[in-house]
Amino acid sequence: MKPITLDLAVKRAEGLLLAGSPNLAISSVHFDTRQLTTGSLFVALTGGVRDGHDFLLQAAEQGAAAAIISNQEKIPAQLPNDFGLILVNDTERAFQKLAGAYRKDFSIPYVAITGSIGKTTVKDIVAHVLASQVPVYKTYKNLNNHLGVPLSLLQIEEQHEAAVLELGMNHTGEIDLIASLAKPDISVITYIGESHLEFFGTREKIALAKAELLPHTAPDGLVLLNKDSEYLPMVAHLFAGEIMYYSVTGPTDLWAERITPVEDGTQFDICFASGERTPAFIPLFGTHSVLNSLPSVAIAKRLGISIEQIVAALATIKLSAMRFEQVPSRHGSLYISDAYNASPTTMEAAIRTFADLFSDRKKVLVLGDMYEMGPESIEMHAQVGTNINDLVDHFELLVTIGDESRNIHDAYHGEKLHFLTKAEALTALLPLRDASHAFLFKASRGMELWTMLTDLENHD
Ligand code: ATP
Ligand code: MG
Repeated sequence: MKPITLDLAVKRAEGLLLAGSPNLAISSVHFDTRQLTTGSLFVALTGGVRDGHDFLLQAAEQGAAAAIISNQEKIPAQLPNDFGLILVNDTERAFQKLAGAYRKDFSIPYVAITGSIGKTTVKDIVAHVLASQVPVYKTYKNLNNHLGVPLSLLQIEEQHEAAVLELGMNHTGEIDLIASLAKPDISVITYIGESHLEFFGTREKIALAKAELLPHTAPDGLVLLNKDSEYLPMVAHLFAGEIMYYSVTGPTDLWAERITPVEDGTQFDICFASGERTPAFIPLFGTHSVLNSLPSVAIAKRLGISIEQIVAALATIKLSAMRFEQVPSRHGSLYISDAYNASPTTMEAAIRTFADLFSDRKKVLVLGDMYEMGPESIEMHAQVGTNINDLVDHFELLVTIGDESRNIHDAYHGEKLHFLTKAEALTALLPLRDASHAFLFKASRGMELWTMLTDLENHD
């Protein structure tokens, strides 16, 4: 963060200075005491299980120079005299205001990415391609909500020449709020799918919630929409500026053609409506990975990066962990870890990708429950089982784990086993650990399916 004075923080947080010198330099802003360093501003959040006000002394001990508070009665008497205190009505809102104002200190291009699926992947690819030419700030891991986005914004430094942010949500109005802070120049909506269907009821409502990003995008900016996602064209009119569609299924503003899986990734042609066509390669698998790489092409081009530079950068992408990550094993087995999260769309995409690859190995699917699917959960699990029945010849065995995934099992026609717990499933998988096998692990994050990889690796 570029340091600001306590006085400026007071103004931006729309608060009142209770203590501390107005000239005090603030070098970072955090609500988690573990991240505080000398000169930090500590935000005492009150919405969680613990009240941040109870950590004021600890914050001071860890070097924090000041705090944003909303409850004067909780100011500890032992606080150092020079400790700065900003009083506000709502500390979370104050934190967001601070971040929104800080964003305006930078006139670099801001890219915001939302969607039901693929946000982190697209964020990482866009940031990677831009970073091949200029210093880029990107959202750390998955900090994409009403607290993560302001936290991310406040980490941008003067050296950065572009910022790539992930915007997530699980209720209506959340994107509206965080997009108003991020004020993107370029926005991407990756996909409208089933994630959080439990809370929204319908996909149209999910589309509307994602579309809250559009009115916050700069009018002279650019919006990228996935043409292959059913509900996105319905919301396009909410942005008055330039819209660019991208697709892997057919010609539009920007699309991929001749998608060909090769040994270490995927080849394809990048095609523009102008007739421009360039061969490219990504070290990632699956048509959905090609789809996820297209926004980076449009964005980098818009920011003046040549197609040759873009193609060179695409060839060296490396993704965050647990997204179709290939994990080798001491037994010679190959584990594909895609245990980061799951919905019917991503599960089917991962399974199809897995079916296409590693033809020299016997393949085992290890699938767990998909959470937050709402009243249609049983049907959605069953649908996955049904939809992959055309692939039974590719797999030696399907292992399902958990309550809901029994419905995948029941609908699937190939060799299959169902277990209620990971421990039981482990027993069935142990004899298959050898150089002839490859395993795909996929489930919702809550299943913590990645522990099975460690167990398989460490078990005698
Ligand atoms: P979260 O809401 O948890 O932040 P996200 O939107 O950031 O999720 P990613 O983490 O990028 O999504 O991807 C989640 C999973 O979906 C990964 O397993 C990834 O391989 C898969 N995936 C990404 N894009 C697609 C797509 N277009 N179609 C199918 N699967 C996809
Ligand atoms: Mg994410």
